[in-house]
Amino acid sequence: MSAGLVQAAYVVAAVLFIMSLAGLSKQDSARFGNYYGIAGMAIALIATIFGPHSAGITWIILAMIIGGAIGIYLARKVEMTEMPELVAILHSFVGMAAVLVGYNSYIDHGVLTGALLNIHLVEVFLGVFIGAVTFSGSIVAFCKLRGLVSTSALNIPHKHKWNLLAIVVSVLLMIYFVNNNGSMFALLVMTAIALVFGYHLVSSIGGADMPVVVSMLNSYSGWAAAAAGFMLANDLLIVTGALVGSSGAILSYIMCKAMNRSFISVIAGGFGNAPTTASTGDEEQGEHRETTAEEVAEMLKDSKSVIITPGYGMAVAQAQYPVHEITEKLRAQGVDVRFGIHPVAGRLPGHMNVLLAEAKVPYDIVLEMDEINDDFTTTDTVLVIGANDTVNPAALEDPNSPIAGMPVLEVWNAKNVIVFKRSMNTGYAGVQNPLFFKENTQMLFGDAKASVDAISKAL
Ligand code: NDP
Repeated sequence: MSAGLVQAAYVVAAVLFIMSLAGLSKQDSARFGNYYGIAGMAIALIATIFGPHSAGITWIILAMIIGGAIGIYLARKVEMTEMPELVAILHSFVGMAAVLVGYNSYIDHGVLTGALLNIHLVEVFLGVFIGAVTFSGSIVAFCKLRGLVSTSALNIPHKHKWNLLAIVVSVLLMIYFVNNNGSMFALLVMTAIALVFGYHLVSSIGGADMPVVVSMLNSYSGWAAAAAGFMLANDLLIVTGALVGSSGAILSYIMCKAMNRSFISVIAGGFGNAPTTASTGDEEQGEHRETTAEEVAEMLKDSKSVIITPGYGMAVAQAQYPVHEITEKLRAQGVDVRFGIHPVAGRLPGHMNVLLAEAKVPYDIVLEMDEINDDFTTTDTVLVIGANDTVNPAALEDPNSPIAGMPVLEVWNAKNVIVFKRSMNTGYAGVQNPLFFKENTQMLFGDAKASVDAISKAL
């Protein structure tokens, strides 16, 4: 394939990637967004593999077959609830790839001299730095999401000063690296610092703030890919990396807004560690009342308006299908049923929207938190299905809570609240929820799918 044709294919692929992002931003066009992305990636791969700069095509195809087989196997096997972990580990691969590309183009930089060599060395240094931070940060995020390490924030003394020191030393090493026409020693030391920096950055962030970490690492992986694009002089990789990097940054900004956190403090790492007091631990805070599926069915029949606020537990139980079933039954009886979606409900941005779309719940009754929060006061019954942190009044009422300041769905303003969960355990942030002890709240214990099925039967 000629160089001109490859460039033309890259332009087409870049346009398809932009169309893919545009499609993915809305539920009803998301499927096409995916198709555009797949088409763009197929064109990009074919143009790169068969382009004039490729050698060892057999090896490339062999590697793609092995990698593709592992990817297909994992994607088919992964549960929806494990998706965030998969995303985190995939980000770590991007980071690792940027580091390897960096070392490769450091060792084999051709015949560059003078200013061109300096530019190349800066690219290598930055690429390896971003890649190493992304790699170790993503591994920590994976371990936290999988529950392999504690989700609470690591709080070493003077942590911000350590972070700053890591950056300052890395900048000095970069100057040394460039002035010495590329010193392997400087590159190795910086790689070690960047790995520890990435580890520390993500370890310092507490459980409830993990959504921002996931989207932030998404952004970092994009910048790591863009850096690899500079090192390989591959325009499409630069464009793609920049698209992923900036869309990840926009998503991080949206998540920060949803959680009422400052964007800058996220980038600096280690926010979300507000002091915890005994009142915000996981001990119970009074008496709770229990109810049965039959009683809930009666209550729903007597209600004029119902809001369902799903959370991570709905994903675990795969309760979205019976939830759709009771929604349809109630709507058929003239009950106004709507859904209230918290931006960080579940374990993945948009997690609940995906599940509800999968179960064919109509989009127009699925509302964002901001659109529905004022309506709870005029609502008869709220069904909190497997949600916990996202409906926790402590976020608004207790300034010492780890989730203090995070906007939540104010479900307690409704006439009746039914909470579906299996026990009095806390949610992801490890904080007890005063909602469970309010007078208008009743607990329906059990697996969410079994409970909703039983309600559906009773209806
Ligand atoms: P939570 O994680 O706060 O709570 C989920 C609840 O579901 C638990 O209390 C659990 O209680 C219950 N549950 C689990 N399995 C079942 C089941 N089979 N049947 C019934 N109930 C079940 O969920 P939220 O969605 O409210 O909040 C999300 C949390 O995750 C937030 O803290 C958010 O910051 C964090 N997070 C979000 C990410 C995102 O991008 N959206 C990414 C990473 C973290 P029990 O065990 O008693 O059943």
